[in-house]
Amino acid sequence: MSDNSTKIPIGNCPICGKPAVERHRPFCSRRCALIDFGRWIGGNYRLPEEEGEDDEAPRPSDEQPE
Ligand SMILES: [Zn+2]
Repeated sequence: MSDNSTKIPIGNCPICGKPAVERHRPFCSRRCALIDFGRWIGGNYRLPEEEGEDDEAPRPSDEQPE
């Protein structure tokens, strides 16, 4: 029988473009899922660890103290 060679490609994360994982699809991580969710509910939502504006550019995950 054909085993795991028939794995369905999930695609890339719409937030950062990394390959998505099945656990968080269509995102690559919970973080990206939360970012997308934040935009989806209005765009004013901000993650505690995300210092950012709603820019499209993926940022390195450096945590800046306030
Ligand atoms: Zn991502």
